[in-house]
Amino acid sequence: MIMDYDVIVIGAGLSGLIAAARASAGGRSVLVLARGQGVLALTTGCIDILGCLPGSEGRCLTDVAGGLQRLAAIDPDHPYAKIGLDLVQESIEFWQQVMPAVGYPYCGSGAVNYLLPTALGTVRPTALAPATMAGGDIRNEAGTLVVGWLNLLDWHPKLIADGINDLRNRRGLGGAWSSVMLDALPGAAPELTPVMMARFLENAQHLELLIAGLRKSLTPGTGRLGLPAVLGIDEGAALFRQVETRLGCPVFEIPAGQPTVTGLRLAQLLIKFLKQYGVGFRFNVSVLSAERRNGAWQVMLDLPGRAAVVTGGALVLATGGLIGRGLEADRTQIRECVAGLPVAGRDLPGQAREASGWGRDPFAMAGVVVDGRMRPVATDGDPEQYRRLFVAGSTLAGYDPAVGKDGLGVALATGYVAGNAAATEG
Ligand SMILES: Cc1cc2nc3c(=O)[nH]c(=O)nc-3n(C[C@H](O)[C@H](O)[C@H](O)COP(=O)(O)OP(=O)(O)OC[C@H]3O[C@@H](n4cnc5c(N)ncnc54)[C@H](O)[C@@H]3O)c2cc1C
Repeated sequence: MIMDYDVIVIGAGLSGLIAAARASAGGRSVLVLARGQGVLALTTGCIDILGCLPGSEGRCLTDVAGGLQRLAAIDPDHPYAKIGLDLVQESIEFWQQVMPAVGYPYCGSGAVNYLLPTALGTVRPTALAPATMAGGDIRNEAGTLVVGWLNLLDWHPKLIADGINDLRNRRGLGGAWSSVMLDALPGAAPELTPVMMARFLENAQHLELLIAGLRKSLTPGTGRLGLPAVLGIDEGAALFRQVETRLGCPVFEIPAGQPTVTGLRLAQLLIKFLKQYGVGFRFNVSVLSAERRNGAWQVMLDLPGRAAVVTGGALVLATGGLIGRGLEADRTQIRECVAGLPVAGRDLPGQAREASGWGRDPFAMAGVVVDGRMRPVATDGDPEQYRRLFVAGSTLAGYDPAVGKDGLGVALATGYVAGNAAATEG
């Protein structure tokens, strides 16, 4: 049978994009099919590998490498434990190779967490941070000025400075955080969301006005400037570097609002990069079903006014969980929507929240059970019908990103393994 593509990926969240990147790097022709962009644009764009250990009651983890060892020992059903820590590390190295070429470099080895400020004046642990954000670690003792503009919505510099000062005082750290609210940006709308401001600043003259205003706010005590993440979307880290160089002062971004500029940047730049390398994309298309016939995967698409079929040698299912709508729940069961794969935990809605252990939500824990190569296990019926099918990201069972703070980390590691297996396994 003549196949349209070597690998078809369903889903354009981070797990699908990484699976596509890995399969394409393995020399395969790849098509990504997606209804929308997934959850990525709602995230900080930081790759949280592991922020909390199960049972640690929400305590922030700083030693990620040690935490992963412990997690693998106590929770063999977690996707990281299934993959093995060497492959988790390999996926991090793949990320660190790809992102500079994407034009949006990341900092961090994955072994330790940054402690970065949030727009609410709290702190979040993350292992891989965009270069535009990594300078904001709250343990840095430089005097920090958080800047706002009167016409920017969802951004409260004083709330951030006060909250971080509280946290830092408790840790006995020096170097206070302060805040300043600047006048509305001239020429901009009277009310700007962070995304609107990022688009506004992609104009060189507007960026000049911003730099001039920031320069006036610098004092001899300013060791670094904390800005909302508004320094452009399409330009990656270029506007950030320009602002930092021109001011001669370290700058860092803090994500604000939703969608976040940092999440949008990551999604859009990664898609643009993959397109340049020949990965095909079809957005706004719902996959109705996928089945293996005559040695190929046949994927049924719901197009306006008609249905269509594309065929592929291997299939990566990266359709998300209940939020991405790769899984659907009713009062009696949770089901996987495309290939009809068995879902572990389908009887969980009737159980207590504690049933899945360590305070994790049974709905988040439910999903498709896979082996270490992301192949579905415990399939009902003929295993041949699921040959060359690989599952990645939040469609998988066994973890709750709200508790482990490991959402994009699992998407990266499992997308990498699924893409690799789709490219190489016969
Ligand atoms: C608000 C929010 C903020 C978060 N912030 C962070 C953070 O800062 N850092 C972090 O590490 N984690 C964060 N997480 C967790 C993390 O975002 C998710 O774990 C991760 O993005 C899941 O990625 P995914 O690729 O598995 O799924 P998704 O991003 O949900 O992607 C699913 C994809 O499948 C497509 N799809 C589904 N069904 C079909 C179909 N039938 N046909 C065609 N396409 C289909 C969707 O359109 C989408 O493209 C956050 C989660 C939320 C909800």
